[in-house]
Amino acid sequence: MAKGKINVAVENIFPLIKRFLYSDHEIFLRELISNATDATLKLKHLSSIGQFKGNLDDVRLEVKIDKEGKKLHIIDQGIGMSQDEVKKYINDIAFSGAEEFLDKFKDEKNDAGIIGHFGLGFYSAFMVAKEVEILTKSFREEDEAAHWICDGSPEYTLKKSKKKDRGTEIILHIDDDSLEFLEESRINELLNKYNKFMPIPIKFGTEEVADPKHEPKTIKDAEGKETKEPQKMITVDKIINNPNPAWTKQPSELNDEEYKSFYRELYPTQFEEPLFHIHLNVDYPFNLTGILYFPKLSTNMDVQKDKIQLYQNQVFVTDNVEGIVPDFLQMLRGVIDSPDIPLNVSRSYLQADGAVKKISSYITKKVADKLSSLFKNDREGFEKKWNDIKIVIEYGMLSEPKFFEKAQKFALFPTTKDEYFTFEELQEKTKAAQTDKDGNLVILYANDIEAQHSFIEEAEGKGYEVLLLDSPIISHLIQKLETEGEKVKFARVDADPIDKLIQKEEDQISKLTEDDQQKLKGYIEEIVPKEKYSVQLEAMDSKSNPFIITQPEFMRRMKEMQQTGGGGMMGMGGFPEMYNLVVNTNSDLMQKILKAKGKRTEYINQALDLARLSQNLLQGKEMTDFIKRSYDLMNN
Ligand code: ADP
Repeated sequence: MAKGKINVAVENIFPLIKRFLYSDHEIFLRELISNATDATLKLKHLSSIGQFKGNLDDVRLEVKIDKEGKKLHIIDQGIGMSQDEVKKYINDIAFSGAEEFLDKFKDEKNDAGIIGHFGLGFYSAFMVAKEVEILTKSFREEDEAAHWICDGSPEYTLKKSKKKDRGTEIILHIDDDSLEFLEESRINELLNKYNKFMPIPIKFGTEEVADPKHEPKTIKDAEGKETKEPQKMITVDKIINNPNPAWTKQPSELNDEEYKSFYRELYPTQFEEPLFHIHLNVDYPFNLTGILYFPKLSTNMDVQKDKIQLYQNQVFVTDNVEGIVPDFLQMLRGVIDSPDIPLNVSRSYLQADGAVKKISSYITKKVADKLSSLFKNDREGFEKKWNDIKIVIEYGMLSEPKFFEKAQKFALFPTTKDEYFTFEELQEKTKAAQTDKDGNLVILYANDIEAQHSFIEEAEGKGYEVLLLDSPIISHLIQKLETEGEKVKFARVDADPIDKLIQKEEDQISKLTEDDQQKLKGYIEEIVPKEKYSVQLEAMDSKSNPFIITQPEFMRRMKEMQQTGGGGMMGMGGFPEMYNLVVNTNSDLMQKILKAKGKRTEYINQALDLARLSQNLLQGKEMTDFIKRSYDLMNN
């Protein structure tokens, strides 16, 4: 037996480990299971090159709770260690690793988001244990088994052990402040979180299942009635993980149903099926595999709980993929697995890392390619999915210039009649009718078919196309398309009377003299609240409505952009709620207003209220007054 002292520069490293990353104590289990997995994979490798002859078909790990003894066991059947190897790997290498780790990060506790994830290794056991034992026997049969004990001080003992089976058993004597780790439910939760897809089966407890060899026979009961005999149950080991998750397979090995069932495995509480998936698979210039799913997204951009999960060699790391996956794709779900993402660094460093940048742009490109092929191969299906995926695509177009370029070919613009055009098709289709006298192509849109019904009808009556654009970020995208495209303008149908939105050469002639127009404007301005409406006279079709309330495109769009946030809009004060009151000077009603004496005020108010009514702006006292006035006008 040997007693020794771990080579310490910092005498008090163990208390330090305990205090470190307080909230992240639970990671000890992932670290120890990772070690056990590595040890097993190493042996498998040796076997594959003929240096180990034993049978490895049933190798597994085991996690065992000894509640009375207050111990937690992590057992593997991997390569194991000789006494010399324990000295070397545990006392020297592992310890210096832990020491270095702590030294590097002890001042950065606040950036625990990612540094807590990797690097502490074996010694993280001391975050929850007051004493740790290692029982280990090397795969080399001639080596004696070893028993290492360390109680959290820098002293350890190392002696021979009688352990017969190959592999390593780590025994944690759980500290009184960490007794939660002796609860089955807690360990179960951790195994499920970090180890659900580890490559070696992990046994944790047993379960009762129907005996597959027993088929219940039909028998007669005491009264002679036919009944089935009871199913025989057997106790089997409970394996908590799926060692071969879908993303580790080739796309050719998987069918659609298997992709969907993997989605359910990842997100057991999601009942909605994903719309489609993207299988990622690169090995140069970095290693990355994974499957991304497009979920059905509703227009509210709530923070979701089922996020993309990041793994390293099938070990769960985090579901915060900020910096690794571009922002707009964080609305997707699925798995990314890459050993090349440096994790024991802070997020700001991560974002500057060249390899990580490449990963992010690879993912963007793959997603664009997939969308592009869905569009090309099944346009009808793509159109059906459009409303569920448009937010991701529109957000991507706004935030990633490369994605914008590619998406120009498949981003769709639906019309109020449920037709779908690409931007290029749309321009082609509307060019002839919707180019105004200055050569600008004016693209009309609505965001609410019901509310803007009369405007849509008017525009469509003129043979114009009206798009239905209703995502919350659409004003930003429109703004971008206008800046990118030449001589293209977007206008919402209710931004102005239709003849003003798309102005043609031939101006309507006003039936009113200049003098009458001045008088009319004066009468109206006297009555209509100035702070809300700016009165504008227009010579329009005599059959068009006399008064029309519009909200100028620019003001409204700026307001919307401000509400949904984003580039350049910060800090601009609130926009007032302002409308135009467009007065059709060619309407017969104007003659009436000019000539009327006693009823002029009533006529103007009535026309204003009707215009408000058609825009859903009439409420409360104004509504009550309107109804009363309407009856009065009928009676006189
Ligand atoms: P890392 O795993 O990052 O190398 P650790 O501190 O976790 O650092 O472990 C140090 C070393 O101890 C490992 O590299 C390995 O050689 C050895 N080791 C740890 N756990 C086991 C185990 N279960 N079986 C065999 N060797 C192990």
